[in-house]
Parts: sequence; structure tokens; C-alpha cells
Amino acid sequence: MADSALRPRWIEILPADAVNRIAAGEVIERPAAAVKELVENSIDAGARQIDIRIEGGGLTRLCVEDDGCGMVADELGLALERHATSKLKPDAQGRIDLLNIHSLGFRGEALASIAAVSRLTLTSRVSGANAAEINAQAGRLEGPRPAAFTGKGESGTRVDVRDLFHATPARLKFMKSERSENLAITDAVRRLAMAEAAIGFTLEMDGRTVLRVPAETDDANGRLRRLAQILGRTFCDNAIEIAAVRDGVALSGFAGLPTYSRGNAQMQFLFVNGRPVKDRLMTGVVRAAYQDFLARDRHPVIALFLDLDCESVDVNVHPAKTEVRFQDAATIRGLMIGALRHGLAEAGHRASTTVAGFALGRARPEGAPTAPLFGHAAPYRPAQSVYAPRAPQFETETSAPLMPGTRVELDTPSDAQSFPLGAARAQLHETYIIAETEDGLIIVDQHAAHERLVYERMKAQLARRGVERQPLLIPDIVELSEEDAGRVLQYTDDLAALGLEIEAFGIGAICVRATPSLFGEMDTRGLLQDLADDFAEYDAGLSLSERFEEVMGNMACRSSVRAGRRLNAVEMNALLREMEATPHSGQCNHGRPTYVELKRADIERLFGRRG
Ligand code: ADP
Ligand code: MG
Repeated sequence: MADSALRPRWIEILPADAVNRIAAGEVIERPAAAVKELVENSIDAGARQIDIRIEGGGLTRLCVEDDGCGMVADELGLALERHATSKLKPDAQGRIDLLNIHSLGFRGEALASIAAVSRLTLTSRVSGANAAEINAQAGRLEGPRPAAFTGKGESGTRVDVRDLFHATPARLKFMKSERSENLAITDAVRRLAMAEAAIGFTLEMDGRTVLRVPAETDDANGRLRRLAQILGRTFCDNAIEIAAVRDGVALSGFAGLPTYSRGNAQMQFLFVNGRPVKDRLMTGVVRAAYQDFLARDRHPVIALFLDLDCESVDVNVHPAKTEVRFQDAATIRGLMIGALRHGLAEAGHRASTTVAGFALGRARPEGAPTAPLFGHAAPYRPAQSVYAPRAPQFETETSAPLMPGTRVELDTPSDAQSFPLGAARAQLHETYIIAETEDGLIIVDQHAAHERLVYERMKAQLARRGVERQPLLIPDIVELSEEDAGRVLQYTDDLAALGLEIEAFGIGAICVRATPSLFGEMDTRGLLQDLADDFAEYDAGLSLSERFEEVMGNMACRSSVRAGRRLNAVEMNALLREMEATPHSGQCNHGRPTYVELKRADIERLFGRRG
């Protein structure tokens, strides 16, 4: 027995406007996608200048104007038709080659999709003719008719979109805040502006200019200038040029020095044949290339451009065209890693944080952990200590400074050797303390260790009476992007409890009034940027107490603890003893070991005395 309530009575073809609205959802999922499609059209039209205006997160209005080739009046209606494009032409057999795509657009869907869910006016002019415009309202067309449009060049196009998604209330309901739509739009425009240095861009949001970049020369210098305008002015001084060619694949671009790293991977960009793409390939490549130079939680700033035969990459994976598939991903991966490593090696003298774990990794006995001697849980407490654990005096002048870079025998009480971290024998490179234990030697990374100790002391202070602050004589004014400043400022009260006193200082700037005294002098700019990066990664949600470790780690990283300090014997031994008495002292706040132990047997193995 047929149940008419459960089973549809007959199959019907949907009316065209419903089909269009359904399809529109795939291409235009949010205002940023509409902006991206329109700007891509302008790029395909050969524009030299693209001006974008946004109101109300793009939902009230978004308008893109270019000085590209334009369209004649009769084309305007067709441009708004689904599957109508000027970018794919059939070959002699009438076939379309989807693997041979040279333009950003090719699906002929964007304008139709936007028009299906908005009120759209398309105005255009080709060189030597008058302008015409056409209106579309929820898919219904009006026009074309003559229009008053001069634009910036001899020809050009303006697409003015109002009330996006008014025709699909369900979609409208799922839009995030205006602010987050604005962020997504800015991100999309930035990516395209990085891809096309020879085109000038402006982006205006609710009457405010968010981005204005002039057209640059079409060469590596022009590209670097454009990247610096978007990634930060200092990128120029901290970038290595990358260039390599293999098997018809050309790689170019710029990679940041390891020292110019960020707290998240959002500043890593890949462009394939001029198309900004989001591909996981990049993550693996960057990790592999930088692994010897960067801690796991630091991420380089990087923009790479791959140019290859259209036929060896499929861009038709997803309607938004941000994913690609390479025919030979392994070769491309190899090329990218090789070129980055080469570039980094050449720039070795410029990078200050080279981490050479290789030799020590080999010296470590098979399967032995890199870190703690005495576990994480219970701190080791020497039964009868000749030296009461005390704070290492990093800030005071040492009485007998060691010569930098030399090994000096130290006068250390003989029984100190029986402590787990042994007796300090020398300081090397103002960074490493070499200690002798009863059956081996210990190399302590004094900065990592000090970081850890400061962090544990801060935790103790916080538990007792709050963190002591050191007011700055002259408050630091730190300029960030507007979004980043907002991200940090939302935690003003929590940060104050941790000793960091900040307040808003106009648009995109933060005034730092005090820092936690434990950390000494701080790089406040770097610190605020790190915090903003961290907060951006999860976009709010977590309270600051849940992020205590993260914030502390950032502070320690940006404090004067980092700088080289010469220590005398007493200070070094005090540091070792404090490490022994402090929980979790086997690793720094970033999970790296604070010391490495080589047992006598390991050393003998190193020298081939043992198998
Ligand atoms: P696609 O870009 O995939 O071809 P669209 O729907 O985005 O599809 O655009 C349809 C057609 O309209 C394009 O192929 C192009 O011929 C024309 N067009 C769209 N935008 C512009 C523009 N800014 N300048 C000139 N022509 C344009
Ligand atoms: Mg298009």
C-alpha cells in the first residue's frame, strides 16, 4: 500500500530559479566568495586597477569596478546566464578542453549565481562605445539600456551587488558577524592582490580604506614590494628569494627567515598559475623545509608561486576553485622542499636560530627520550644541598665575566657532581652550560631553562598574590592590524592579571603601560603580535586561564631572558640546582628540552670506542 505522506507522488523538474538558487549556494557561500569571483573576473578582463567597495559585511552592498576590456551591451544578458562564459572555446571537433584553462574563471557560474540571490546591476563599456547596464533581481533581468558610466579607463566594468542572500533567507541566517565577513573579504582580496602585483587594488569597507596598493612592476622586485605591503613592511628585509625550475614546473616567491616567524600558519600562501589556493601540500612542505630551523609551534611567513603546464594541474576540483590537484604531487613537493632548503642554507648567516639537533639526535642512545632526567611529576630535591636553590642573577653584572665563546675551567665544589644535573664546568657561546655528572655530561640550554624557571615562578606568584608588574617609564605604542589589535584587547583584563597592562590607542594600536617584572625588558611588539596570532587561531572561545601556558610561553619568548648572558660559576650552579627543584624543568615552554644528557657510554659510542 502506497503511503502518500512518505513517498512523493511524482518526480518533477525544479523551476529554473530554484535550480539557480541551489547552485548559487555552492559557488557563493558567503560574501567573500562573491567578492573573490568578481575580482577574478576583473583580472581575467585584463584590468590594471580594481576598486572594491563593501557595506555591511558585503550583505548590504558589494561593488567591484575595473578598467578591463568591458562587455558590449548585447553580452550583458549572456554574462548573467548560467554556464555562459567567454573563457572556454570549443576546438575543431566542438569539444571543450577542461584541462587547458588559462583564466581564473571558466565555469560561467559566478555572475548567474550572484544574480540569483541578490539585486545586481552590471554596467560595462568597451573602448569606443557607450556604456550599457542590465539589472537582475532575484534572477529576473531588466535591460540592457544605455548607462552613464565612465570608469577609470577607456573601457571597464562595474558589478554592483545589493542585498546578497535576501532571496535565500536560510543562508542569510547562517552568516557570521559583519566583522567576520569583513575579515574573510579582506583575506580574499589580499590573496588576489598578492597574486597580481601588476594590478592596483583598493578595498573600502563602510567608507574606510582597508587596503590600497598601487600597481607594481611585473618582476620579482615588484612582487616583493607587493608582498611587503600585505604581509608587513619588514618582510622585505627578512625574506629570501626562492627560484627553481624542474621538469617544466617553475617555482618562485619569497620565504621568511626562520627568525621572522609567527605563532600560526596563517601567513603561508601558495599560488598555482596565479590562482590563490589552499592546499595541504604547503603545510607539509614548509614543515619539512624548516624543521631544523624552527620550533614546532613557530611558522614562517611565506608566499610561493608555482607555474606549470595547465595540463598537469586540475583546477576543476571544487566550485570555489581554491583546491587544485597535481598530476605529480611528489615531484612538486620535492621541488618546493629542495628550493626552500637551498634558500635557507644560503641565508644561513642571516638566520639566528638554527637548531642543529642532528648530531645530538644520533648521539642519543636508541629509544632514549630527549628530555627529563627525573620525570615531570615530582621535582627532585637534593637530600642535603650545599647551595640553597636561589634565583639565578641574570640581570646583574657578573663579577668575573667569561670571555665570550671560550671554554673556561670553573672552580666548582667537588661534591656538586653528584647532583642530577652535575657541576657546571663551562659556558659556551653565552648560551650553553656544560656540566659534569658522575657518569656523563649535561648540556643545558640556559635560555630555555631560564624560561621554564621564570614560568614556574610566575605560576607560583599568580597562585599567591598576583603577578608583579613593572610600569614602563614611557609607555610603548604598538601598531598592529585592526583585527589583531581587537583580538588582543578583548583580553585586556585577563592580561592585566598576568602583569601585562594594555589599553586601546586609536585604531589598530595598543598602548603597553606595564609588563610582568619577572621577564625583565620585553619586546612588546613581538609579544602582542604573537598573542594576536594565537588568539586568531581559535577565534575566541577559550578563556585566558585556559591559555595561561600559551600566553606565558609567548612572554618568555619575547623577554630579555632570550638574550645572551654571561654567567659565572655560582650563577650557573644556582641555575642547575633550581632546575632540579622545579617541576617540569626538563623542557621549555615550547616542548623543547632544556637540557640534553650524554652518558659516558654515549660519548664512547660517538668516538667509536663502543659498538
Ligand atoms: P566565468 O568567469 O567562469 O566565465 P562568470 O559568470 O564569472 O563566469 O562571468 C561570465 C562572463 O562574463 C565571463 O566569461 C566574461 O566574458 C564576462 N565578464 C564577467 N565579468 C567581467 C568583467 N569584469 N569584465 C569583462 N567581462 C566580464
Ligand atoms: Mg568568473
